[in-house]
Amino acid sequence: MTHPHEHRHDVPATAAPLLRGRGRRVTRQRTLIWNALVGSGDEHLSAADVVARVRVDLPSVSPSTVYRTLDLLVEEGLVSRTDLGTGSAVYEPVRRHRHHHLVCDRCGRVEHVHDDALAGLASHLRAQSGFELGTAELTLHGRCVDCA
Ligand SMILES: [Zn+2]
Ligand SMILES: [Zn+2]
Ligand SMILES: [Zn+2]
Repeated sequence: MTHPHEHRHDVPATAAPLLRGRGRRVTRQRTLIWNALVGSGDEHLSAADVVARVRVDLPSVSPSTVYRTLDLLVEEGLVSRTDLGTGSAVYEPVRRHRHHHLVCDRCGRVEHVHDDALAGLASHLRAQSGFELGTAELTLHGRCVDCA
């Protein structure tokens, strides 16, 4: 069993101070995109999902604006882009600690686990092959608890 991911994350509710702190302008689009990502909780949104959510408040927004803004937020280290092998990259706010992804190949559910869940893996790899596991986030495929 993986250990459930139930704690809260300190993701800032508003983008304005983050953007200003990086010398970036605070625009309505940027604010709405940040809100869509933060409001999604532990969900994983594709760029198309973000466009759909932002359009609820700003129907005129163009997909290319959203894509460019997502790129900018990734570049500024505020948002992560992950390829879960599900066909399109997903976006989420960067949290203070690393999250590895567990992807269910049957139902598509995506769960987070923290580093401690993989602590054994890192030491096994080191013992078996001398390989030093890096600091990247990992995506692991398998079956979730409901599908196993
Ligand atoms: Zn966490
Ligand atoms: Zn499943
Ligand atoms: Zn995630």
